[in-house]
Amino acid sequence: MDRSRFHDMISVRQIMKSLRALIAQDMPAQERLDKIVEQVAQRLDVDVCSCYITRPGGILELCATYGLDKKAVHETFLRMGEGLVGEIALQRKPIAVADVWSHTSFVYKPETKEKPFKSLVGVPLIRANRVLGVLVIQTRAVQSFSSEMIELLETIGMVLAEMLAGQQFKKSESDTLLVGGRQKIEGTGLIDGFAVGQALVHKRMEQVAQVLAGDAQKETQKLIQALDRVEREVNKILATSHMSGDQSDIFETYLMFIKDKGWIAKMTKAIETGLTADAAVQKVGDEITERMELMTDPYIKERIHDFRDLVGRVRRHLGRSGVIRNRKIPRNTILVAKNLGPAELLDYDKNKIKGIVLEEGSQTMHMVIVARSLNIPLICGIKNVAQIISNGDSVAIDAASGTVYLNPSDETLDTLSARAQRQKKLRARYAQMKDLPAITSDGVSVSLNINAGLSNDLMVDDGALFDGIGLYRTELPFMLADDLPDVKTQTNIYRRALIQVQGKPVIFRALDIGSDKVLPYFQHQAEENPALGWRSIRMTLDRRALLRNQLRAFIRAAAGRDLYVMFPMIASVREFCEARKTLMMEVDREKRRGGTLPRMIRVGTMIEVPSLIFQLERLVREVDFISVGTNDLAQFLYACDRGNPMIWNRYDVLSPALLKALKYICDVCHQARIPCSVCGEMASRSLEAVTLVGLGFRSLSMTPSSLGAVKAAIRTMDQKHLAAYLEKQLVTTSGSLREKLKMYARDHGILI
Ligand code: PEP
Ligand code: MG
Repeated sequence: MDRSRFHDMISVRQIMKSLRALIAQDMPAQERLDKIVEQVAQRLDVDVCSCYITRPGGILELCATYGLDKKAVHETFLRMGEGLVGEIALQRKPIAVADVWSHTSFVYKPETKEKPFKSLVGVPLIRANRVLGVLVIQTRAVQSFSSEMIELLETIGMVLAEMLAGQQFKKSESDTLLVGGRQKIEGTGLIDGFAVGQALVHKRMEQVAQVLAGDAQKETQKLIQALDRVEREVNKILATSHMSGDQSDIFETYLMFIKDKGWIAKMTKAIETGLTADAAVQKVGDEITERMELMTDPYIKERIHDFRDLVGRVRRHLGRSGVIRNRKIPRNTILVAKNLGPAELLDYDKNKIKGIVLEEGSQTMHMVIVARSLNIPLICGIKNVAQIISNGDSVAIDAASGTVYLNPSDETLDTLSARAQRQKKLRARYAQMKDLPAITSDGVSVSLNINAGLSNDLMVDDGALFDGIGLYRTELPFMLADDLPDVKTQTNIYRRALIQVQGKPVIFRALDIGSDKVLPYFQHQAEENPALGWRSIRMTLDRRALLRNQLRAFIRAAAGRDLYVMFPMIASVREFCEARKTLMMEVDREKRRGGTLPRMIRVGTMIEVPSLIFQLERLVREVDFISVGTNDLAQFLYACDRGNPMIWNRYDVLSPALLKALKYICDVCHQARIPCSVCGEMASRSLEAVTLVGLGFRSLSMTPSSLGAVKAAIRTMDQKHLAAYLEKQLVTTSGSLREKLKMYARDHGILI
């Protein structure tokens, strides 16, 4: 097709306009995709337009076509790298072929009836660095495609990728359709695992039955009694549920709410205006939650669930139902709710709750902390889930992929059960390795450590062994406290951690607050860019007493033991020296006071701010060790907010830009004989962990649940071979190395 004909025929703007109109229309996702491929084919005047979508496991499924046999839709599959479509997905770039039949990569799928079509152009649908699928056009006539045509198809592909990843499409209707009528809903998995069971939609209290009352005194009395009963109930939960320190802290917060004079005064005042106790509790509860919802502080927002739970509890005691603890529920219950408080979760028989599906939720929500310690798989982020799923529905969840299957087919159940079996086998395999060292097949030994901060973090799955705590996030206990913990409280917390790990090293990271880590009792100024703002070491160097108190607590907790202190968000050598000087002043103070000093003190820094990389040669003369915080380092290197769901995974950590920076850090530290570790989330994922070892890192610190998988991967890799492979790749490639590394791992038998 020549350039002028192309321009005569197609107005780029027109085609984009019609695509936008289709995207904006309210229609089922499958119908929309069908219409899009039809429009594209007609407007580009080609015989075929098809869209393939990437499915878990790198399978490309034909999801819509205009021109091929429609019966092939949802029936034709290609693996990544298989055929021209698979090649486009793997290469992540467009491929144009004038005669597919003479092309070595072409794979004929008879069910598509594509025999008459000779020429093909395909583009990958990429968003947030992920290949979501492939868009293909084909013609009967043999022809070569102009670069303008390919560019236009790429632009259409971009729009399509946005649509495929867009919320409405992804969350509900879309996937239901794209898997050929099966009910499949995508959310975000917060606690990994599989579960199959019967849905129980969690109900909060219904409407207030009676709003007005004649006798205010009687209503006030009822209120006081209800509050009393709730207090007793919460105390009973505390006494009987064998909770960890963090969980019991949550219920202590309930007790604090119950005794809050302001809340009680507001409710009694509402009763005095003529309301029933029930209506007063509801009214004041609504007012308070509304006010909490307006606040930007994420900590307070997360307390809303706890407070709502409490209001429901008080109202239940005002009604006839009273206590609902351990109500009768099916043996395999999948709890479905808009949101859930931690106490509400514990109202159910926890042995019968096999999974949780929520509309709201986040990693740091108290209920999630409780569910994690109970090992219940949890998926959140599904809009209107409590309306979509009904009581008694059969539900299967695969939290690793964040997928909920509503009324799943036998085939889905078989697939899930096979996957669960595989996971079980893998776990068993990891458990067998538990006493074996993390050593590569060519004899390179790697130190595996855990990231911790909550007491239950130290209860490692399958008893997997770890060498120490590579990152103790001290802000976590601060976040769960009601008030700034004093030196004594802090000392106890840190000492407990040291005792729990029985002599293994614990790297205490100085307070890393600010940005998304907000302390409820600490006045934070509103900032335009909190991640780049007055946070972490910048704040504690300014509020020196805060830092000094914490350092004092570290020193006292480690009396007679080894003390490792690490400073976060250091951006210059001068800042590190200042922080270290403060620590040494505290050591002197403790000495003068006659206290027992730590047996040995090592002071290190995190590398999270890119500026530090350019001061590394000077920095290694000052520090005892370095730990790379890849979560923040990647965020700042790519200028990409790690908490923004629109972009947080747009740039892959397995891209040469970050990998080269990491290799440089590792090499300089190695030459200077400074221990260097990685403690960002990267180290928790097998493929990334193996890559880090390939780059030269000999120490990793990760989420405790990843220990088994990472160790298995390391034990099956050849460090030198991978190092040589990476060396070549880092200079020859600019895009993500993920697919290549996956293939490398597969070809070399690395267990990822
Ligand atoms: C990091 O930034 O990689 C890191 C480990 O610190 P945090 O995730 O606590 O910011
Ligand atoms: Mg960080």
